[in-house]
Amino acid sequence: MNGDESGSTKTELPETAGPERGENRRVEVYPGKEVVVEFDPSLTFECVDGCTWCCHHGVLLYEEDFFELAGCAPLAESTTQVRGEDFVRKEPKERDEHVGEDGQACFFLRDDGLCALHAEHDWKPARCSVFPLSVTVENSDIHVSVREEAHEHCDGLDVSERRVVDHLDAFLPELLWDLDNPETRRRL
Ligand code: SF4
Ligand code: SF4
Repeated sequence: MNGDESGSTKTELPETAGPERGENRRVEVYPGKEVVVEFDPSLTFECVDGCTWCCHHGVLLYEEDFFELAGCAPLAESTTQVRGEDFVRKEPKERDEHVGEDGQACFFLRDDGLCALHAEHDWKPARCSVFPLSVTVENSDIHVSVREEAHEHCDGLDVSERRVVDHLDAFLPELLWDLDNPETRRRL
């Protein structure tokens, strides 16, 4: 569902530590916009057909996403506010597939397992592109790691030849660099 395949090869900037396993390095994702990579650079990712695990939850909406979503769907039905932040709601679904253990899934996850926003509007919230990665900020630098729960639930890790570090723009929308707080560890 995530990590669009539109990525291109990225410039790896002079390393802060080195490209070896477990060490961090800086990678330029867009001109002048870099991240510190905290995952093994050999990590690969390809979303697996039929898996919708990461769409069984609500999803954080950055402010830009919220306004974009307003052009695609009724906000009153599809979103909720928690602790002052906007999220796409999750809701009970009348089906057995493409739902979490609680029978719920993202408002936009259709019965066929596709995202209605992506399928019908060729757009999805930034947070959906970022998964299975995680964004944190340290000393004004954007750090990128793999989300803890992705190791357990995301079937797309290390099943292809597509190195994540070479396609970071597919996961990290450019708007992240303009946000006051691009951190993704905020949940519904
Ligand atoms: S908005 Fe779409 S991609 Fe994002 S969690 Fe919902 S169904 Fe999945
Ligand atoms: S959990 Fe991983 S493999 Fe499954 S839909 Fe999400 S990104 Fe794709």
